[in-house]
Amino acid sequence: MNNPIYNSISALGTLVTNLVTGAIRFYRRYILFGIKNTIAKFIIYNKESFKSAKTFIKRAVVFLLIASVITSVVVIANRTSTKISATEVVFDGETVGYIKNSDDAEKIKETTLKKLNTNKDLEIKFKNARTEPYNIISNEELSDNLVKVIAPDYIKVCEVYFDDKFICAVSDQLTAHNAINAVLENEKAKFPKAAVSFNEKITYRYAYYKSSDENIWTKDRLELAIRGFELLTPQHVECETKISKVEFETVDIETNTLFIGDSRVRRKGQNGSEYVIDLVTYINDKKVMSQNLTSLSIKAPVSQVVERGMRAESISMGGYTVTQTSGYFCWPVVGLHVVTSPFGWRSLGNHKGIDISGANASGSLVVAGASGVVTEAGWSTGGYGNYVMIDHGNGMETLYAHMLDNSLMVSAGEQVTKGQAIGRVGNTGYSFGAHLHFEVRINGTRVNPAWYIGLEQ
Ligand SMILES: [Zn+2]
Repeated sequence: MNNPIYNSISALGTLVTNLVTGAIRFYRRYILFGIKNTIAKFIIYNKESFKSAKTFIKRAVVFLLIASVITSVVVIANRTSTKISATEVVFDGETVGYIKNSDDAEKIKETTLKKLNTNKDLEIKFKNARTEPYNIISNEELSDNLVKVIAPDYIKVCEVYFDDKFICAVSDQLTAHNAINAVLENEKAKFPKAAVSFNEKITYRYAYYKSSDENIWTKDRLELAIRGFELLTPQHVECETKISKVEFETVDIETNTLFIGDSRVRRKGQNGSEYVIDLVTYINDKKVMSQNLTSLSIKAPVSQVVERGMRAESISMGGYTVTQTSGYFCWPVVGLHVVTSPFGWRSLGNHKGIDISGANASGSLVVAGASGVVTEAGWSTGGYGNYVMIDHGNGMETLYAHMLDNSLMVSAGEQVTKGQAIGRVGNTGYSFGAHLHFEVRINGTRVNPAWYIGLEQ
């Protein structure tokens, strides 16, 4: 061990050992105190720790108690709350609103896409949720809300249609109404007493337009368009009054005191009058419709009462029997029924009437074919001999000729009734044997009497 380096290190080791030993010896008291102190502190620390653990448990129990009380309160409160189950609609993490029925989800989605005019599948979520009833909105409102959220540059506008023809869109219905009304007020000023409106059907429809859409007009633009292009036709309805005639009615009364075909006015009819109020519609000053609103009677009409003859068979009249025919006139002679010469051409010329005769003709009673006024009764220079002419009204006249001298029973101006005896069959004037020459004239023209005494139909 004579290596100098080893010797040096050994010497240094001894020195260090001596120094450490010396230091331990010197500091022993302090080191022991440090250890003792550390243990004591550990015990103290642990004591604190145990104490706080106890506190923690105590506090935990209290906390749990409070928590359970709160939970119970919340549960009970929930049970008694008015919340109902609903469907929450969410777009892009944002609640858009609540709807009642989840079945409407697809429909709402569809409506919304339609409003936005897109087919793009939008991530609209529908979740089951509970909410207060007042949070529930209609499908339409919800769809509107969705549009606002999805497309903030879209605005709700009011489309204006005249007779189903699209005119424009305005911000809202009131704007459209104000524009139309401004034009209407102008028309009203022209017809202060009339009810003025437009002839066209005006309809509004809400829709979504991009706010920059050029179909969105202002009130002024719509008003100018209506005025400038006459998009609407003004009409005015006025109350018009007048007095008008009310025509009388004719009431028929059947009577056996007259023959069939005879009639007699029992009461003359009188027209009445009434005050008529009409609602008259004008378009461009042209009357297009008149509707009677009411009529007030001023004077009631008086019905005309007419007696119409019902007597059909031959009847006895003061000792003689008149034969009723199916024609207008009764048979003009009593007891004679043979037509010896008809109306029309014959060897003696044109016959303007018919001749009636039979056995013991002379002296048979000649009767008025219908009631009327005797216009002529006397001697004819034209060949009729003793004759009578009767005016029956309505342009009808009858003539009875060749009667016996001094047999005429009526005179001009006298009123006669149907079947009334006016004379007797004779052979006076241009005549070859006792007969009655009978004529019927319509408006002065002699016609075939056969038609009027039931011989020909
Ligand atoms: Zn004749």
